[in-house]
Amino acid sequence: MDLVVILGIDLGTTCTVTAGIGDDGRPVVLPNSLGETSTPSVVHFESADSVLVGSTARTAAAVDPDNTVALIKRRMGTEFDLFFHGVRHTPESISALILRAVAGDVPGVRAVVTVPAYFGIREREATFQAAALAGIEVLELLSEPVAAALHHRTAFPDAPDTTLVYDLGGGTFDTTVLRGAEVVAVDGDSHLGGADWDARLASHLLESFAAAVPEVDPHEDEVFLSEVVVLAEKVKRELSRVSSRTVALRCGGASAAVEVTRADVEAMGADLVDRTLEITRRVLDSAAARGVPRAGSVVLVGGASRMPGVARALRAELGVEPRLVEPDLAVAYGAAIRAHQLASPERLRRAGGRMAVVADQPTRSVVPRSFGVLVDDSHDPSGEGRLVVHVVHRNDPLPATATTRFATIVNDQDRVRVQICEQAGDVPSSEPAHNRRVLDGELSGLPPLPAGSLVEVTLGVSADGLLSVTAREPRSGRSLTLESYVDGVVDGGAHAELARSLAGLRVAQ
Ligand code: AMP
Repeated sequence: MDLVVILGIDLGTTCTVTAGIGDDGRPVVLPNSLGETSTPSVVHFESADSVLVGSTARTAAAVDPDNTVALIKRRMGTEFDLFFHGVRHTPESISALILRAVAGDVPGVRAVVTVPAYFGIREREATFQAAALAGIEVLELLSEPVAAALHHRTAFPDAPDTTLVYDLGGGTFDTTVLRGAEVVAVDGDSHLGGADWDARLASHLLESFAAAVPEVDPHEDEVFLSEVVVLAEKVKRELSRVSSRTVALRCGGASAAVEVTRADVEAMGADLVDRTLEITRRVLDSAAARGVPRAGSVVLVGGASRMPGVARALRAELGVEPRLVEPDLAVAYGAAIRAHQLASPERLRRAGGRMAVVADQPTRSVVPRSFGVLVDDSHDPSGEGRLVVHVVHRNDPLPATATTRFATIVNDQDRVRVQICEQAGDVPSSEPAHNRRVLDGELSGLPPLPAGSLVEVTLGVSADGLLSVTAREPRSGRSLTLESYVDGVVDGGAHAELARSLAGLRVAQ
């Protein structure tokens, strides 16, 4: 019999964690080949046929930054070609290399892979593609906060029913309100995370160095610049534990000792914390609008939520003591719990105890972003105006489906272009510039229709966040269904080409 490996994988912006379920039915982290519980999401292309992933890649970044990629999760779902040793790579193929490294590079892996709750369809599709390129069968793409909440409910079965998950990771911020295992509201910012603190602290260190040693320009030394970013991340973490730290910097034969305090780091990031609070207020308002009681538990996940200032700010804002339980591992643990629910419910039931209780709970979620139809604005006198009419709205419970009727505007129209857009900004808006097109098709072969004829458009978002659209002209009964074509995501041919180039690569940690 072929071996099947069931995993939960938290594919993070800065670090990736893999978990499984131990013999006692509880989640356990599966360390990488270096024995580390988390693998930096960094890939270094050593040569045309060999890559390093993880800590070794991060070390190599200091020496050879041009052949190293970090923070690739921020590019998921976008067209972003990279070339290393003459071979084309994409965010999907880079993520696939990380997944291959952490999933042991063996066949037969089935996994739940986590994604931020607000990841749109392109990012989800790209994550799915990355797993496929790594030879991993995706059981489900699970929202990170749902995973964290699953783990939290396992650890604290008596916790209040309404939970706010505040997830400040390396590169993304996610905030979610759950009632039991049901997600009732999500919000977030895909460009906000611990790396922003690192960047600010790194600039501060460089400026301090330049002030102390005016004869050396540290900005000219690329190796030093990338070393300072790595150092800044380390110093930031230490300052969550101690209140001040002296950092020794050496560049161009000169050296300087720079003192940094926790208060300095908090001041540098005060506006970043404020941004997370603003988004948290927004998500709580969305939940309240759906009649959900105030969150009784606040769960901190994501490594950057270890900064003491974060819990302090939330306590002041919400009057609830936030709970920080293995913030780096909670998402992977929840993914492992979910993977085993999906892959072997019988086994979980047999394991008994609290896990079995969780295993029987469905994890419902909400639409991560509003989806709608791009139409001509009939109120615009110039005739040029366009707007996006959202049909399915952010925070609608999943699976969601809704139908809206649109009227044609010119006589004898025998075809209708159907363009489906997804909310691009943090807040839904009908302005086309604040949306991005995810599907585009044409309902053709219609009998010449008089202006004002109705076309029905039905949008559906499945439980795992994939979009399907049907446009129907009721008189002729003709319809068009749009499914998997999504702008900016690897198509079949490109997938085969990437799979070929990845197959020839040896991945080591
Ligand atoms: P994640 O994406 O959840 O793995 O979070 C990684 C982020 O958490 C990185 O920016 C880390 O620098 C940050 N981080 C990890 N541990 C700490 C800590 N003790 N204090 C502050 N930030 C931390």
